[in-house]
Parts: sequence; C-alpha cells; structure tokens
Amino acid sequence: MCESSHFQFHPRCKDIKLTHICFADDLILCSKGDYQSILLLLQAFKLFSNSAGLKANQQKSSVYCHGMPESEVQRVVDVSGFSRSFLPFKYLGVPICSKKNTVAQCGHLVDKMITRIMIWSSRNLSYTARMQLINSVLISLHMYWAQIYVLPKSVLQDIVRIYRAFPWSGQAFSQKPSNIAWDKVCCDKQHGGLGFRDVVLWNMAFIGKYVWALVKKQDNIWIRWITSVYLKDGEWWDYQPSSSASWYWRQICVTKEKLKQFFTLSDLEGMAHYSVKQVYEKMLDLKPRVHWDRLAWNRLLTPKHRFICWLAAQCRLQTTAKLARIGISQSALCLICGLQDEDHNHLFFQCQFSYQIMQAMQQWLGVPMAGTLHQLVRKIGHSRVSKFRKQVIFAAIGTAVYLIWKSRNASFWDNQIPTISHTVSSLKKLVKGRIQVVLPKTVSKRGYDWFITL
Ligand SMILES: [Zn+2]
Repeated sequence: MCESSHFQFHPRCKDIKLTHICFADDLILCSKGDYQSILLLLQAFKLFSNSAGLKANQQKSSVYCHGMPESEVQRVVDVSGFSRSFLPFKYLGVPICSKKNTVAQCGHLVDKMITRIMIWSSRNLSYTARMQLINSVLISLHMYWAQIYVLPKSVLQDIVRIYRAFPWSGQAFSQKPSNIAWDKVCCDKQHGGLGFRDVVLWNMAFIGKYVWALVKKQDNIWIRWITSVYLKDGEWWDYQPSSSASWYWRQICVTKEKLKQFFTLSDLEGMAHYSVKQVYEKMLDLKPRVHWDRLAWNRLLTPKHRFICWLAAQCRLQTTAKLARIGISQSALCLICGLQDEDHNHLFFQCQFSYQIMQAMQQWLGVPMAGTLHQLVRKIGHSRVSKFRKQVIFAAIGTAVYLIWKSRNASFWDNQIPTISHTVSSLKKLVKGRIQVVLPKTVSKRGYDWFITL
C-alpha cells in the first residue's frame, strides 16, 4: 500500500512512514484525508483481517476526519461502515487529544474522587482511615491520569482542595481549616508529613519521563515521531517549541525547563532508569528529618491512634489553651483538672490525671516516663533496649496519648472523665491486644518472654 503512488501518508507521519499504531486490543490507522488514501488503507486492513482472522468491531470503531469536505467524509463513513466521531476519544478511560484538555474533560477525575468520598462520608471513619484512603485510593486515581498528561491547573487545585478537606472533615469540601500546613502534610512520614503527594510536582515528575526519554534518545515510535515533526536536527536540551506546536508538546517543553532547575543534562543522561519518585523527591523541598515518626507511625500502635499521635507530636491538637488563643474558647484551663492552662505538655504529662497514668506506665514497662513527648521519644530511642521493646514502649505511649485526648474530649462532651485505674487497665488491654495480633516474626525469645509478662 505504501508503495502505491495513490496512497499518501498523514502529513505529520510522512517522514517516518507511519500508517498505524497497535495497542493491546486497539488499532489506530492514519493517512492523508483523501478518499483514495483512506480506501487503500481500509483495503490493506481488510487483507490483514482476512489472513489473520482479526476483525474490527464496527460498533466500536470510529472515523475521525479533519479538513475534509463533508461529501468525502460521508463516502468514507459509507465505505468503512464505521461511525463518524470527533476528538477527543477516550482510551482506557482517559480523553486523548492534542489540544489542551479542558476542565470539563478532566472534571471526570474530580467527580470520581467526590463520588468515592460521598460513599465514605456516610461512614464514621477515623482520621487514620481517611488518611489511608487518600493515600491508597485517591492518589492512585490521580496518578493514573497524571502519568498520561498535564492536568489543568484548576483541576489540580480541586484535587488539592479535596485532599485538604477530607482527612479533617470526612467531606470532599470543607471550610474547616486543617491543623497543619499543606506543604508539611505532603512530606513523607520520616520528615513529619502524612506521605501525601504534592499533586502539581507529582504530575510534573511523571511528565518528566518524556523529557528523559528524549534525552536518552530511546528507540521508540514516539521519539521518532517527535524528532521528525518537532525537533528535526535540533538539540532537545536547548529546543524551544513554536507557538503553533500542540499544547501537549509545549507542556512537555515547559516541564523540561522546570526540570533544568534541578537536573543538568548529564544528570538525566546518567539515569539508566527514570524513577518518578526520585525526581519528585528532588523537586520537593524536603523538611528536616524528625525523630518522632517511630512513635506516630509505629506498626505496633493501633492505626486509629496514630493520627492523634502525629498531631500531638507536633503540638497541633486543638487544646483549650490554643482555642483560647484564637478566641474560640473563653477559658484556657485544662478540661480534666481545671487547674492550669491546657497546653500539650500539661495535658499529657503535668496534669494530675496524665501524671498518674504515666507513673503507672513507668511501673508497668520499667522505663522513666517524664519530660516532654519529644524528650521521652528521644530518650527511649537512645536507650539500650531491643528494637522490639522500644516499639512496645512507643505503642504504649501512643495509646496513652490517644486515651488522654479521648478522656479530655469526654470531659467536654459528656461531662465525665474516666477513672485513672479504668484508663490504665484499658491502655494495657489495648496495647497487648494489638501487639498480639501484629507480633513481628523477628522477635527474640527474650523479647517475647518479656512481652508475655506484661
Ligand atoms: Zn490538667
């Protein structure tokens, strides 16, 4: 067919003699928009179908024409038996088009997220459960789209808004301010965050893969096509697109310029494989390493207790002292003892209620439980007991923080505070119960024997 003088390639596919692209179950055929060429293309496909036994499903096949007179288009539709459609078409659920993706097209992604959240919001989920849902379900939805193309700014902003609202309110949209700045939340857990992704940077890191593929001059059809249509003989690293280039291609060029702030040409040339995560982390302004992540994200700590611990470690719980400072509460006094201002240190260590719980824990576990939360975590981290023992102690502290916070809230909502002995016994029960379920396999006999005596 390509040899025939009657066949003409699609103008943009002429140099690389491209007539078709095959995907798993799909096929794209392309040629110049004249009846003769299209007819030859269809005949070639028919020949292939007859010999290979692979036929096109007419109901699912479409013709996309551009710059052709209507009468010609009708002839093509009649001869092919396919229906006429207009760009963008959807491939694996994502709209494909060389033009800028409109907000309406990508709005589908936001709608999907909102639908999920509406299902979840009817359930009474803990903060930790909401966080896990964001990290698993919502981020994977977004990641799927983000690896294919640059999402419009307003869509990315909507996604951020959902990520910011859902962990705190359980809803897709909320006016309730979050307790922690967004850039902090976006750090990984070792750096004090929740491991959420900065959606704009993540999208850019994904698209950076195409920049890298061009630097590496990978041998594939896309690189050959880009080289023939846009780059010609120019150097990719210094290339500037013309304003008539497709929106999508210009976005890849914009991404290249942004990557230049973090990588040199030889950095990218030196990468044997492209790691989205590594590129993302380099672009992310990393916060200093924290030492309390092993308290909040300890595997032996009940998941439900982790989020409160994460907030407590950063002194970000809405204590009465804090609420008084911002004018929400008239009094700053502790809701449990009513004797001193309720800041984090008072609530978890100095208050008579928590002091006695900490004393009981000290007796139970054989380690001093004094100082601030940070001091305690550091001291235990540096102590010479086994890793398993440290994890158990951290789990106990984490559970204590949760139970003290819960008691303080009970005092506010129900006007009653559980007794110290009741709190201590439920603390022991919770810690032992959880650890028995997730007991690490690597625990030594000595460690296990110690745990059993608790
Ligand atoms: Zn108190």
